[in-house]
Amino acid sequence: MHVMIIGAGIGGLSLAQGLKQAGVDVTVHERDRTRTERLQGYRIHVAPYGCRALNACLPADVYDLFVSTSGQANSTLAFYTEKLDELITLDTTEIGMDTDHRTDTFRSVSRITFREVLLAGLGDIVHFGRAFTHYTHERDGRVTAHFSDGTRATGDVLVGADGTNSAVRTQYLPQAAHADTGAVAVSGKVPLGGDAARLLPRPFSTGGAMVLAPGGYFGFLAVHEFRRDERGGALSLSPDFGIDPQLLLDNTTDYVMWNVLAKREKFGDRKALAAMSAEEIRTLVLRSVGTWHPHLLRLIEESDTGTVSVHALHTSRRPKPWAPGNVTVLGDAIHAMPPTAGAGANAAVVDAELLCRRLVAVAEGQELAAAVGAYEKDMLDHAFTKVAAANRNLEQGVADNRLALAGFKAFLRLAGRVGPIRRKMTAAMAGQQSPRSA
Ligand SMILES: Cc1cc2nc3c(=O)[nH]c(=O)nc-3n(C[C@H](O)[C@H](O)[C@H](O)COP(=O)(O)OP(=O)(O)OC[C@H]3O[C@@H](n4cnc5c(N)ncnc54)[C@H](O)[C@@H]3O)c2cc1C
Repeated sequence: MHVMIIGAGIGGLSLAQGLKQAGVDVTVHERDRTRTERLQGYRIHVAPYGCRALNACLPADVYDLFVSTSGQANSTLAFYTEKLDELITLDTTEIGMDTDHRTDTFRSVSRITFREVLLAGLGDIVHFGRAFTHYTHERDGRVTAHFSDGTRATGDVLVGADGTNSAVRTQYLPQAAHADTGAVAVSGKVPLGGDAARLLPRPFSTGGAMVLAPGGYFGFLAVHEFRRDERGGALSLSPDFGIDPQLLLDNTTDYVMWNVLAKREKFGDRKALAAMSAEEIRTLVLRSVGTWHPHLLRLIEESDTGTVSVHALHTSRRPKPWAPGNVTVLGDAIHAMPPTAGAGANAAVVDAELLCRRLVAVAEGQELAAAVGAYEKDMLDHAFTKVAAANRNLEQGVADNRLALAGFKAFLRLAGRVGPIRRKMTAAMAGQQSPRSA
């Protein structure tokens, strides 16, 4: 059996690693011309369930590389008001979580590093410069992928892991198109060691922090701190991976990433926003959230304009069941979601693990359509729970509803003071049934 994966992103590469490890013949076709084209410099938060799925897909040495090149483990998720009043801090060390555990912990990884790690050992399994356009079926039922340069490849299974604007999904499941949430996230980075970051309360440097604000805006801040060797060098990537030295340099500075989310119209119309320079966008954000605590404003002010960007936030609706076959999809291609549950990449890796297991069973003799159908059901069930959570968080955050905001803040403040409730919330965040230590 030969499996063709379209897209060398987080989900596609995890699946390729898993299949290769199990001895299944696999190729990945990626439209980028090189492994370092169009690199996106933000960090990805990998939750314990994502770490476990990744560990199941990757050979032990590649998973070890993921662990050693990920940042210092995140131990907290804090909620603050825009005036920097603490509402609650969920601290995983309070429920006895070992933040250095190989899999059962929260990890923060630079997306650039993560992609390089996922490529480790795949060699010529990954074909760059291959933009998929469409597929056709052969008389014998096999599937042929066509690429924009006129080349084609034929295999037994085609997996669309080609992200939000998936060409595979567009052809295979046109009814499953993703939707614009109407909200955007503006983000930027500030060095962790600088004055601006030092002015923030401690939980802003031990994990993620939400800023609940009035007026339909909310903030999310997250720290990325590299592990360092005994000489202070960041344990990010080895130059042996062939990454551009300039990128390696950019990928070694500890930073705090800030995001301000709101409905698009709060920042102006789509066209005007697209035409703005990074400096204009930063000024616009500062003006929009001008009543926030001066230390938060200083953080935004001090971000390098090279790191400031705007992301339109997409979501998706669970499609009606369809008849499974030898074409399928995973990750953002089928369940794009806003980043408000920190779950998109985690869900893509879970898909990869689920599909890998099913395809290995097919290689061992199980019927293909039944196996793909079983994968699709499991994938839709787990991923659309995450989509619903991400949508809910986003809607709450940008709602501009003073009463609801006041109620939510009062609840968090109370929960923050009541140990058992706080620990229960921490355990739920960590994916545990109940706190291990009360
Ligand atoms: C700012 C930001 C922060 C985020 N933070 C988090 C986080 O903390 N935690 C988390 O879980 N998620 C996070 N996400 C979401 C996460 O990045 C995505 O959900 C994840 O990358 C999806 O993985 P994927 O493999 O489905 O798609 P991708 O990683 O997007 O990969 C798709 C690949 O397909 C390729 N491709 C596209 N079209 C074609 C074609 N026609 N032919 C060939 N190749 C093609 C692309 O070039 C790309 O390499 C964040 C997203 C953003 C924007």
